[in-house]
Amino acid sequence: MAQELTGLSPELERLRRQLDEVDTRIVEELAARQRLVEEVGQLKSSGDDELRDSSREEAMLGRLAAHGRGAGLDGFFVTRLFRDIIDHSIRRQQEHLLNRENPKRSQARVLSVAFQGTEQATGHLAAQRHFGSRELQAIYRGFETLPAMLDAVKSQRADYALLPIENTTAGSINEAYDLLAQMNLAVVGEEVEKIDTTDTEDAHDTYTRFLVVSATPVRCDLRIPCKTSLLFSVRHEEGALLRALNVFATHSLNLTKLESRPRPASPWEYVFYVDFEGNVADPDVEVALTELAAHTVFLKVFGCYPARTTRESRVAEAPSPIVTSEPLAAPAPPSASIVEMLEKKPYRLASRAGRAEDTTIQVGHVLVGGTRPIVIAGPCGVESRDQIFACARIAKELGADMLRGGCFKPRTSPYAFQGMGYEGLDLLEEAGRSVGLPVVTEVLHPADVERVARQANVLQIGARNMQNFALLKEIGRVDRPVMLKRGLMASIDEWLSAAEHIMSQGNQQVILCERGIRTFETATRNTLDLTAIPVVRERTHLPVIVDPSHACGVWRWVTPMAEAALASGAQGVMVEIHPDPSKALSDGPQALSFPVFTELMKRLARQAAAR
Ligand code: PEP
Ligand code: MN
Repeated sequence: MAQELTGLSPELERLRRQLDEVDTRIVEELAARQRLVEEVGQLKSSGDDELRDSSREEAMLGRLAAHGRGAGLDGFFVTRLFRDIIDHSIRRQQEHLLNRENPKRSQARVLSVAFQGTEQATGHLAAQRHFGSRELQAIYRGFETLPAMLDAVKSQRADYALLPIENTTAGSINEAYDLLAQMNLAVVGEEVEKIDTTDTEDAHDTYTRFLVVSATPVRCDLRIPCKTSLLFSVRHEEGALLRALNVFATHSLNLTKLESRPRPASPWEYVFYVDFEGNVADPDVEVALTELAAHTVFLKVFGCYPARTTRESRVAEAPSPIVTSEPLAAPAPPSASIVEMLEKKPYRLASRAGRAEDTTIQVGHVLVGGTRPIVIAGPCGVESRDQIFACARIAKELGADMLRGGCFKPRTSPYAFQGMGYEGLDLLEEAGRSVGLPVVTEVLHPADVERVARQANVLQIGARNMQNFALLKEIGRVDRPVMLKRGLMASIDEWLSAAEHIMSQGNQQVILCERGIRTFETATRNTLDLTAIPVVRERTHLPVIVDPSHACGVWRWVTPMAEAALASGAQGVMVEIHPDPSKALSDGPQALSFPVFTELMKRLARQAAAR
């Protein structure tokens, strides 16, 4: 009967029924977890225990991922799921604290929340996310314009409104800032919502940040990581703005946003909007605001609210296993004789003579050249969706920092696999994004630079292109970190001169990569020149990493050379991995299988811990 109606076999029916049962149990267990979280929340709101213990969170995520793996699940999937669960718990606990400080806030009544746009517009989704963790039921209402929406709050027809204030692609929304100043409403929260960009041209994630406004401000418990939003204007005097901003610096208050808008009715004068990390209930912040007032002609604090964009409020990332207790040794400042030697070199911008301190390069959330060495891992070439996603997952799970994958392959033979081109780049970008890792890929042709830069976080210049000056020039014109590999036959100074070509066009974000050079030795694919590392670190301030894969050509030697690279002072390593090296379309013999890559990561972690 069931089969006749649904066309499904009894076996499938039975399995689906079992699935439904499992899903119901999952929901029930989540509800049981939430009840425990509520109890913890009650305890914390009456005591002064910290709201968030990131080392406990990290340990818990690690334990659950390992347990998941043991039970046949993908560890990354388990981690991602539990990050969402933890985030929700933290929001619930913040709710308890906010309600305790602001008793009126929880007095039972249905909340009315205004947003701009139609149902399912970004504002509506942000509102649902924001108020979803409140115990009170909320009714959402869309308004055609921002003034109409804010007017509803002003006239008490709505309790809250979500004011879109900035967009990660288009920047600040001027109208919203101007309205904020005019309407005299309080800011009581913020929310960040990703915009659905499938079908638009732009491949980058775009987020809109909303301020949650209400008629009255809230007080926030000091344990909630908070932001404060304010507006000020200064006298039309030399240095007035600098003196005002200095107040934040002297009180170590981190500014997260600074925006200027014309001051109404005062041509060529401006009002400044500032968001900073801090709580107005903190006595230090109070002192800072009093000092700030003395430097302004007008100061208005819009409110203080739980932050959604600060690092503390983000769920802890799985930590990289390669954490050194001691920062990587930076070379001593160059002596007079080294400076004299460097001044004769054909490179200036790249030279340590011009900049004594190490340069660090920010790639997404990863810092290259900082106190911790980085690991880049991925296949030689992107070959399929399954292959690159499998590499992305293992790289993330083991704590690597970036995902690599060639889409345009420079091959010695014209008959060899040349890469998947832009189709591969789409997959690489999607795989990196799905696990939260920045991606590195090689660009072969000047005409491709701009397009590849839209999707890749780091542009790689391969060994064979180190002196392709047209390519260097084009890459020098984009604002994207570059990884410049050492040419097969290039001297250290030629390599640094190639970096200078890029930097002289404006782009200073060059990461050097030693990948072995041609010598008489044929037992290895190339000869890894680790002597170059201390030499390069003496001659340039740019970070330098090592690719042992292309140097060795054989997977068995990659791990010891990766360890040797970090011991020599390299600021990271890049290795090739593959789910099944025997089936790789390029460079299979040097690719690490996942178990070997796991062992490599363990060894690097042990090496770092022993430092
Ligand atoms: C690569 O890293 O994909 C590559 C082709 O390396 P190299 O340019 O060092 O040969
Ligand atoms: Mn390769």
